[in-house]
Amino acid sequence: MQSFYRLDERDRIAECRGDWDRFALDNGSSRSMARAVQGRMIWDFVDGIDMSSYLGAIFFHVRREVRPFESSYRCDSPYRARRFAMRVETSSGGLLLTHRMTWHGIIRDVGPDLPGDGALSVPRCSVCCRFHAGQAWIDPVAAPERVFVPASHCVCPACKAELRARLAV
Ligand SMILES: [Zn+2]
Repeated sequence: MQSFYRLDERDRIAECRGDWDRFALDNGSSRSMARAVQGRMIWDFVDGIDMSSYLGAIFFHVRREVRPFESSYRCDSPYRARRFAMRVETSSGGLLLTHRMTWHGIIRDVGPDLPGDGALSVPRCSVCCRFHAGQAWIDPVAAPERVFVPASHCVCPACKAELRARLAV
């Protein structure tokens, strides 16, 4: 599964192609289908100030260095875990972003009972998809018996530190 989109110099989505629509539907997000997003600002689709800063730092870095930057992130549903590689490069005055699925795994069997009783509503990191429960950041793949619901979107300290280190090189 691979999708890509091109941003113009003002971060407006100029074009999306690939498996974009299939992926959007897979995530139950018809608002993200290609015809609905083209012409809109990318920032309209990024949840939370943390993730906007995270992506903004990558975009700034790529535009300044004029060199591609690759990173990976998770995009999970309550039942499925998926890891994607994201490549950002300059392209005709704007940026080209390519997303390619590199791994997927099962969190739990698909059932009608989510979130259900006992679900824990806590912040989730938009990069690694770990949930902040108590003092720990928990990967839902490692704790399938616990049901987490994202109460808010953030970027965890580990993901922030990793990006900072990579951009400083
Ligand atoms: Zn994280």
